[in-house]
Amino acid sequence: MIRALPALIVIVVLIAIAIFIADRPGTVELDWQGWRIDTNVAVLALGVMLLGALAAGLFHLLRRLITAPAAYLRWRRERRREAGFRALTQGMVAVAAGDPEEAIKHSRRADTLLADPPLTLLLSAQAAQLNGDHDAARRYFSAMLERAETEFLGLRGLLMQALHAGDEAAALKLVERAKELRPKTPWVLHRLYQLRARAGQWVEAEATLVEAMGRKAVEAATGRHHRAVLLHEQSRAAEAVGDTAKAAALAEKSVTHDRTFAPAAIRLAQLQNAQSRARRAIRTLLAAWKEAPRPDVARAFTALFGDEAPLQRLKRVEKLVAANPEHAESHLAVAEAALDAKLWGEARRHLMAAGAGADHPSPRVCRLMARLEEQEHGDMAAARAWLGRAANTPVADPAYVCLHCGAELAEWSAHCPRCHEFGSLTWQTPKRAAPAPLAQTTAPAAIPPPTLIDITAPR
Ligand SMILES: [Zn+2]
Repeated sequence: MIRALPALIVIVVLIAIAIFIADRPGTVELDWQGWRIDTNVAVLALGVMLLGALAAGLFHLLRRLITAPAAYLRWRRERRREAGFRALTQGMVAVAAGDPEEAIKHSRRADTLLADPPLTLLLSAQAAQLNGDHDAARRYFSAMLERAETEFLGLRGLLMQALHAGDEAAALKLVERAKELRPKTPWVLHRLYQLRARAGQWVEAEATLVEAMGRKAVEAATGRHHRAVLLHEQSRAAEAVGDTAKAAALAEKSVTHDRTFAPAAIRLAQLQNAQSRARRAIRTLLAAWKEAPRPDVARAFTALFGDEAPLQRLKRVEKLVAANPEHAESHLAVAEAALDAKLWGEARRHLMAAGAGADHPSPRVCRLMARLEEQEHGDMAAARAWLGRAANTPVADPAYVCLHCGAELAEWSAHCPRCHEFGSLTWQTPKRAAPAPLAQTTAPAAIPPPTLIDITAPR
């Protein structure tokens, strides 16, 4: 109804004009260049209106004719753009589906149709990667660096390539540039502190880690442990240049960030002892045993007192474990010291408490039992039986286990010696696979995933 209103108004106005003219009759006489027209006013008005309509129609047609080529070009451009975006979408889908041929076909088509490099460079780079053409992918990622809107994404692509190739120096430079572009991006902070730590830039790595923790780019517990490791390494570096006071201060800071991180407590105690602060050193290791009882802490503790008689050493160990007496490590530490002191009953009691009577005692319990049987009674058969159990028991002794590659190590280090991951070694009992059943069927080999470097997903 509303839409018909203008037409209705026009009709009403026309009828009003017609009535107005009909009510006032009259004649019109035209004489021009030998032409003569005699008519009345109504016919003249109609004639003028028809002429006006004809002129308007002609004008409209002329305008359409003039603008036709431009409109045609616009329509064609729009069609190309639509086809380009369709190709772009299909290309992205092909990348996600791991189909390199389709991805390359669509990326070329999108590139031709859209002629808009920022849009198509990423697809071209990913298609090249999928096809295993890393040089082409590097060219596309490098081209992305030239444009502000794609620079960050290009950096990320090159960074992933550098990491994939194991070139950590290049990766560090790239991620530093990424940090300049987007200093708050979580994955940039996370990657930057890890690469700095891997490069041994302990101070810079710690500063970046603190920033990353502030932005929740690192899980809090992991962040605290990694910070403790970075401080521990700074302490080592300070000691290496003879600054023992700074080394001790850094070790103390390391301990406060992660009280379960025994290597820092051991280092702190050794530095305190070297500074003639023996009582402090003892307190440091007593606190460490409460949080993290493990053999290296016990060794560091007895070492504080120099070469003592076995019975005296046993008394030291008993004092050490007093804060955490029921822990298996406490029983093992006392049992070992009791064996040295030839207190067989005491040793046996602690070994039983550490699991010697269980179905599956740990290898360390078995080895100490073998030693006890041999030294107490000279029972070589029983000793051999215990050594056999140590070799075949399905449980493992706790060790420093790499959370990244699963390596098991007796000694702690900041980087895993096998995979070079930073801060990945944690003290734990490695899991042992259950014995395989006899009628084991071979599972079909898994199909390896495509070797696409994902540059879009976070971390
Ligand atoms: Zn590892």
